[in-house]
Amino acid sequence: MPIGNQKPKVGIFGLTGCAGDQLQVLNCEDELLRLAERMDIVDWVMARSQNDHNARLDVAFVEGVVATQRDLQNLRTIRGRSKVLVAIGTCAVWGGLPAMRNEIPREVLEKEVYKSDRPFLDTVEARPATDFVPFDLMLPGCPIERHEFLRVANALLVGTTPEFFKTPVCWECKTKENLCRVVHCNEVCCGAMTRSGCGARCPSHGVACSGCRGPAEETNYDANITMFKDRKISWVEIARKMENFSAPVWMKMGLEEEEVRGGR
Ligand code: SF4
Ligand code: SF4
Repeated sequence: MPIGNQKPKVGIFGLTGCAGDQLQVLNCEDELLRLAERMDIVDWVMARSQNDHNARLDVAFVEGVVATQRDLQNLRTIRGRSKVLVAIGTCAVWGGLPAMRNEIPREVLEKEVYKSDRPFLDTVEARPATDFVPFDLMLPGCPIERHEFLRVANALLVGTTPEFFKTPVCWECKTKENLCRVVHCNEVCCGAMTRSGCGARCPSHGVACSGCRGPAEETNYDANITMFKDRKISWVEIARKMENFSAPVWMKMGLEEEEVRGGR
């Protein structure tokens, strides 16, 4: 993916979210300093006091969901300024935890938090940034993995397209020889349906996967349904757990509770 500049101009931005993905970029520490010698980070409000908000960008990284009209305007402006746009974090790619709020009417939530006086709010349904403008690369994770961010940045610097794991978390879990949380503990573990790249962090610490990296590609849902059903774990329980981090996707897939309650 050529970006055609000896020292590319880069921007890093956050929409609505916890800013955890930007923090992970900061946490790259020494590697980030080395990257900063090869790229010109001109617009990053979290890390710099002086920013160029109008510069044309070779690469922009965006985290978060579109949850306000201002988010959408900002996102469209960033897309218009950038040659290559990279979504960082599960919120930007799949909707993440902020999209859970869509289950409750916004008016109810706004009243609960701000009481009656809330004319400044311009909220919209919380949806992943990738629903609104074209992205060139998507890097899920809640938060992202530092090694994956560095791989993307280094690949872009040499003009190639980074490759990511397409296997589910179970694959990484098996290579670590962990005890399976489903088979041995009858727990609801989302590893078989979740995109790998985290090194199966949770099962490696004795905790079931919550699906924070979003759906894996080409998941065999029928086999999963049978596997969980054999252990008296309903598909509804699995779907509800996966929905925590990728609700908009599951809604699109039609895996809402009513639909799976019957035969599954
Ligand atoms: S513990 Fe979870 S991630 Fe590991 S093999 Fe079992 S289902 Fe897969
Ligand atoms: S094991 Fe699952 S919940 Fe834990 S970090 Fe990996 S994808 Fe996220």
